Amino acid sequence: MKIEQNHNLSKLNTFGITAKAKFFVEVKNEEDLKDLFNSVEFKNNEKLFLGGGSNILFTKDFDGIVILNKLKGIEILRENNEEVLLKAMGGELWNDFVNFAVINNYWGVENLSLIPGSVGATPVQNIGAYGVEVKDIIENVEAYDINTGEKSIFNNKECEFGYRDSVFKNKLKGKYFISAVIFKLSKIPNLNISYKVLKDYLNKNKIQIKNVKDISDVVAEIRRSKLPNPKILGNAGSFFKNVYITENELENFLEKYPQMSYFKEEEHVKIPAGWLIEKCGWKGKRVGNVGVHDKQALVLVNYGGASGEEVKNVAEQIIASVFEKFGLKLALEVNIV
Ligand SMILES: Cc1cc2nc3c(=O)[nH]c(=O)nc-3n(C[C@H](O)[C@H](O)[C@H](O)COP(=O)(O)OP(=O)(O)OC[C@H]3O[C@@H](n4cnc5c(N)ncnc54)[C@H](O)[C@@H]3O)c2cc1C
Repeated sequence: MKIEQNHNLSKLNTFGITAKAKFFVEVKNEEDLKDLFNSVEFKNNEKLFLGGGSNILFTKDFDGIVILNKLKGIEILRENNEEVLLKAMGGELWNDFVNFAVINNYWGVENLSLIPGSVGATPVQNIGAYGVEVKDIIENVEAYDINTGEKSIFNNKECEFGYRDSVFKNKLKGKYFISAVIFKLSKIPNLNISYKVLKDYLNKNKIQIKNVKDISDVVAEIRRSKLPNPKILGNAGSFFKNVYITENELENFLEKYPQMSYFKEEEHVKIPAGWLIEKCGWKGKRVGNVGVHDKQALVLVNYGGASGEEVKNVAEQIIASVFEKFGLKLALEVNIV
């Protein structure tokens, strides 16, 4: 383990924002972690755990220690004819884990194909796409207490998962380093095509799903057609969370905006934040080096050379205009540092 100083983070965040870390270290195994916890640089500085940097916006240099998770490995812990329990180390790429499951015909992760980032970050914001959230398949999360260096196991309930939310974003924010995640997947076909966009795509293209790979391929194809590739255009996926309102509020909104897009979900109604942003005239708009993606208004992009502050300013302007027009306050999905 080598602790570096003044490390450039521009290639370590998908926005491609230039920022530096006062200290920087890669952890490749649990020995590295122990050494790290005993180091002065770790003990005396603010800490930031980093995976793929695909859900983060640096607005300044980080005056502390950035720990890049490179813990690797996927193993089967238990299996029977119906289910398999898999442990994936936190530094594995999420999509490599998805591909591992797909190749082995394990069901459960396929709707989450092609989401960038690391396995270790998936519980933090409870990643979700196409009608599935990672909480649906997480059994346990293994994490180190950064103050004591002790490893704890959090079961699904203890993770307090919510919509793009978990205990690791709230009361335990910054307090634990997630080293591994244990997933329960199904060996029995378990198709989930309830999500409208997915269902419509399958119907329109007359696609018959035969196996788990088919669904993973379709999800990947839809994603490629809609979302900008961060390798080409810096971004961090959805910058804002969707908005949830009550059924009563929905009636009032529909009187004013009969064309409003909405989805009824159990107790609440989801209003796509992308729709609200689009209706405020932001879709495809560019402000300096920052833009709102022309295919998905939820995504802010860096056309090159944007600073984190510039991106944040545009985000604030969007929040203000959505609030002014609809009286709804958009919340951020991306972590601002
Ligand atoms: C093109 C694109 C599409 C996307 N699509 C989706 C999508 O469909 N659904 C979705 O939910 N998200 C999506 N995202 C967001 C992002 O991919 C996910 O949030 C992903 O899980 C972030 O992983 P990461 O490793 O890059 O996390 P990072 O950005 O490195 O970190 C995110 C946060 O988690 C913390 N963290 C990271 N690793 C650890 C750890 N080991 N222990 C403790 N804390 C940690 C960080 O400190 C930070 O606060 C998308 C992003 C992009 C760029």
